Amino acid sequence: MAEETIFSKIINKEIPADVVYQDDLVTAFRDINPRAPIHVLIIPNKLIPTANDIEVEDELTMGRMFTVAKKIAKDEGIADDGYRLIMNCNSHGGQEVYHIHMHLVGGRPLGPLLMS
Ligand code: 5GP
Repeated sequence: MAEETIFSKIINKEIPADVVYQDDLVTAFRDINPRAPIHVLIIPNKLIPTANDIEVEDELTMGRMFTVAKKIAKDEGIADDGYRLIMNCNSHGGQEVYHIHMHLVGGRPLGPLLMS
């Protein structure tokens, strides 16, 4: 059984976060340490620790993460200028929280590597 992280507490509203979207499969909230004017994390409600743990049964949830990212980008007014979607995996990928999350980052031109 994977260990719960602070993101489970955000999903369950046990700790505060600036939640911009939530449904039966995913939750999205603003990053506490934004690296750009818009920095939202989109996470599955199910605890999946890393990209290595994504199973075939999670494909609907993974797809939902992308359609929600698209919606938030439009709502935030950055869809046309563009943005970046990032998922870090394990230590070399720079993953700090072991509950997978898609970073939606935009609102300014981004360099070739955002999180080097
Ligand atoms: P990672 O490095 O794992 O890809 O990214 C983890 C992200 O989660 C970081 O950008 C960090 O700022 C964000 N984060 C960590 N703890 C919290 C928290 O308690 N609340 C929010 N909103 N973001 C968090």
